[in-house]
Amino acid sequence: MNDRQRHHLETLAGEGVEWQCPLSRHTSFAIGGPAEALVRAGNERVLQGVLRLCREEGIPWRVIGRGTNLLVADRGVEGVVLRLVGDLAGSGEKSASDGTLALCAGGGAGFARLCREACERGLTGLEFGCGIPGTVGGAVCMNAGAWGGEIGPLLRTIRIVDADGAEDIVPSAEDFSYRSWKGSAAVDGRGVITLAEISLRPGDRTEILARVADYDRLRRDKQPREHASAGSFFKNPPGDSAGRLIEACGLKGLRVGAAMVSPLHANFLVNTGGATAAEVLRLMRLVQERVLQATGVALEAEVHLLGEMP
Ligand SMILES: Cc1cc2nc3c(=O)[nH]c(=O)nc-3n(C[C@H](O)[C@H](O)[C@H](O)COP(=O)(O)OP(=O)(O)OC[C@H]3O[C@@H](n4cnc5c(N)ncnc54)[C@H](O)[C@@H]3O)c2cc1C
Repeated sequence: MNDRQRHHLETLAGEGVEWQCPLSRHTSFAIGGPAEALVRAGNERVLQGVLRLCREEGIPWRVIGRGTNLLVADRGVEGVVLRLVGDLAGSGEKSASDGTLALCAGGGAGFARLCREACERGLTGLEFGCGIPGTVGGAVCMNAGAWGGEIGPLLRTIRIVDADGAEDIVPSAEDFSYRSWKGSAAVDGRGVITLAEISLRPGDRTEILARVADYDRLRRDKQPREHASAGSFFKNPPGDSAGRLIEACGLKGLRVGAAMVSPLHANFLVNTGGATAAEVLRLMRLVQERVLQATGVALEAEVHLLGEMP
């Protein structure tokens, strides 16, 4: 960005702009070079202004949530990286005549906390999400899910802000599939999810909390907690589990530099301390190659890549 563009960005977003901000601080992997400008947008007016500036000036931009499903390049990311804060990270509710209740959550709101609060109140539907880190925007984009539940079918509306304005869309269940939302391709590079309305029903609070406790226990037992990661690295192939295939190929504990296949859960690639994105990528490719050779299955990364990779 040139001085004029920098100045314009600061006029729009004020103290929300951080120059050369290390994205390793904004990813659960604790990996990633600097964003040329990390911009915290606290309302739709600021967000739209920044998107318009980027379009007019040809500045590349991306939005991130809490970076819990991201591998960011060591060289960092050119242009603007947006995060949603303030008004865009709040939540509220509204009820409908059919007895359902909609939680209205900002794209930057914490997903796990939202789910947990709903369960505590005796609302059913979001039990699966209590252990899923990240934001509501990230969860919608990824169609986040666990234990047979996922966010897609619960969504009543999704609000998208782009350089021209805001649009509320009503998604259908078919728009969502395993860890993906059809709309995310259209949104990618065009707009930002600023709000989601999530439909819930009242349920039996004791049963709801018992389910949450079961899921918490399963996560504690099965997932590595001592090292940074981005959760499950690969998508499960149809009818099988990526973790089972990787483990069957004897790859638990395989390392490239400080990146390692978790000895506890084979579908977690972990940062044992100071790993680079290049190391994680080499490990990813090695795992893909070995699994393909041994089983014929091509594993696809669930984790999104951000920035120019080697
Ligand atoms: C320990 C651990 C456990 C996990 N367990 C699970 C699990 O059980 N199930 C599961 O599904 N996932 C799981 N994940 C992965 C991750 O938490 C989810 O994919 C989560 O929904 C990502 O949210 P985020 O806000 O961190 O998104 P990010 O990782 O920041 O971004 C992911 C993608 O969403 C896009 N995006 C983010 N916000 C917006 C927005 N407002 N508008 C438009 N696009 C946006 C980004 O551009 C990027 O392409 C786990 C991760 C970790 C670290």
